[in-house]
Amino acid sequence: GIKHFVEKTPKSLEFYMEAAKVMPGGTTANIKFFPPYPIIMEKGMGSRLYDLDGNEYIDYLLSYGALILGHGHPRVLQAVQKQLYENGTYLFGTPHRLEVEMGKKIQQLYPSIELLRYTNSGTEATLLAIRMAYAYTGKNKIAKFEGHYHGGYDQVLVSVNPPVEKAGHPLHPKSIAESKGMDDYHEEHTIVLPFNDIDAASAILRKRQGELAAVIVEPVQGGFIPAERSFIEGLRELTKELDILLIFDEVKTCFRLGLGGAQQYYNIKPDLTALGKAVGGGYPIGITGGRRDIMEVSLPKAASDVFDNSQSKHSDARDVLFHSGTYNGHPSILAAGLETIAVLEEEINQINEAAETLKKGISKLFLQKGIAVKTLGLGSIFNLILTEKDKILNYRDLQNADFSLRRELDFQLINEGIYTKPLNRYSISSAHGQEEIDKTLEAYDKVIRRL
Ligand code: PMP
Repeated sequence: GIKHFVEKTPKSLEFYMEAAKVMPGGTTANIKFFPPYPIIMEKGMGSRLYDLDGNEYIDYLLSYGALILGHGHPRVLQAVQKQLYENGTYLFGTPHRLEVEMGKKIQQLYPSIELLRYTNSGTEATLLAIRMAYAYTGKNKIAKFEGHYHGGYDQVLVSVNPPVEKAGHPLHPKSIAESKGMDDYHEEHTIVLPFNDIDAASAILRKRQGELAAVIVEPVQGGFIPAERSFIEGLRELTKELDILLIFDEVKTCFRLGLGGAQQYYNIKPDLTALGKAVGGGYPIGITGGRRDIMEVSLPKAASDVFDNSQSKHSDARDVLFHSGTYNGHPSILAAGLETIAVLEEEINQINEAAETLKKGISKLFLQKGIAVKTLGLGSIFNLILTEKDKILNYRDLQNADFSLRRELDFQLINEGIYTKPLNRYSISSAHGQEEIDKTLEAYDKVIRRL
């Protein structure tokens, strides 16, 4: 696979050597690198990506799930253009109409979100949620689950991808920093829990109850390992009982399990929610939202006189929470987000059905070849796990999967014009129709026969 890859992408290699003179590793995010070198893409249209050598790919990376309508959806482009040109400027530095329109849409789709704030990324959205939880509860630790990603800052950048031999007992995972340059503080202050095991998680949470402001969870780990219903319901009840806030990180799941995200799918009301990725239709955005009384820790003091009918029981805590950002609520991005929602209201079922068809088709081809595979995920995002294991419930369950076969498969598929970053998940967009599914399954058929 790799030999043919190198033959097909000489300009990517040449340009990559230039990129390495500008950015460490030739890339501006570590995960965007893969050996021998990442493909340099030049253009995206609909379901397709085109690289420097002119190769065409059906894109299943979709910018890590953000592009739920594919590349350059005409209605989204038009909405952005209209905002940019007709309103004369693109950034007001004041409250504006689209913040309210988008906010009302989000409140409607996510009933747990009574108030919200805009940020520029998913990372900032979880960061703000955690700070709000600290401010609201007066406690200063959080718990997260092993294998879950919430952004690249210290509090949550532990035990995302830990070496298992150092990660401790599966039911009592250790908190392990993912990055050099993080001080030890967060290894001690971020408690790590095992996913999909309510008894084990409960034992830890009960012990640390007095220290914990919040538990943050990806309701579908990595976008492809769903929480078991009894687990997530148990977590909701338990956190309520223990006075620990529950934060749903729906940066990946929002709009991909239906417009109401995982909380609609599981029928659970978290206290706080972080949204991102698909919400901006490919433009940078994050949203932090949740219970009114919690969100009001960020009520400006000067405004609390105006809103003296506020429900907040923490009125003394107002204005203690700093939240700011030059680009928060950027009008052209909100225009893109609103139009994305409008398109999804018509097309989301079709996207999820296309994903189902693709998953079934891939499973069937592997079955015919006698290779054990799981197409794991809900809605329009899934992962391909080559494993004999019956159930994949958490990070540890992934360890015995055959990643080298998967890597070989991915390179051969790239050579056939089917793109995702090797070992990455698959996301589907509204631009992935029957033609794309058929082409993809043809390529799979060819490649699986060769494996
Ligand atoms: N939370 C989850 C669940 C994510 O998948 C991601 C991004 N992969 C983030 C947070 C961070 O979002 P961003 O990259 O927009 O900062």
